[in-house]
Amino acid sequence: MARRIGQSFWRDFFQLCGAVGRAMKVTLLNLIRRPVTVHYPDKTRAYPDRYRGLLALTYDKETGEENCIGCRLCEYICPPQVIKVEMLKAEKRNYAKVFTLELYACEFCELCVQVCPTDAIIMMKSFDMSTADRRELLLDKDRLHQIGLKFEPSWATGNLLRDMQTPPKAPARQEAEPAKAAEAGAKPGGKAE
Ligand code: SF4
Ligand code: SF4
Repeated sequence: MARRIGQSFWRDFFQLCGAVGRAMKVTLLNLIRRPVTVHYPDKTRAYPDRYRGLLALTYDKETGEENCIGCRLCEYICPPQVIKVEMLKAEKRNYAKVFTLELYACEFCELCVQVCPTDAIIMMKSFDMSTADRRELLLDKDRLHQIGLKFEPSWATGNLLRDMQTPPKAPARQEAEPAKAAEAGAKPGGKAE
């Protein structure tokens, strides 16, 4: 009996020493490893092209006009309904008279970007808007334009996303018919003209 207790003691003792040794090895490896912490904002990481960050409104690069035409598609598609738009009808084109976005409730799903016909709403490669006051995250049109000027835009725009998701076109009928005729001629018994 005493012998069995002794054997069990030493087995447990060696198992414990092994576990402590493995844990100390991990600790020592981490002690000499280079730190991975990025000292933001002194240093910033490069964001991926498809990064879904802050939302912003854009201007037309050539004319300097607002791209938003106040169509409200983004408002209708937004799942948590955080966008509110009022359209201003004008002679040549329409504008957004009011555009607000409650960023604190945004899901960053990108649906508003996908439906925008004029690439007016986009996402930026930044999340840099932390605050302790929720009211600062209720963005109006001016602030959304400022964000658009301040940060680097992500790859995605409504038009690029729609192009990407459009299925490839079937070959035109005229091109397909000579190919079919050649195929029929090559088959045994097929009528070649
Ligand atoms: S990213 Fe999604 S949740 Fe956020 S405003 Fe756009 S549609 Fe709404
Ligand atoms: S941001 Fe785009 S989808 Fe939204 S109202 Fe303006 S034009 Fe329409």
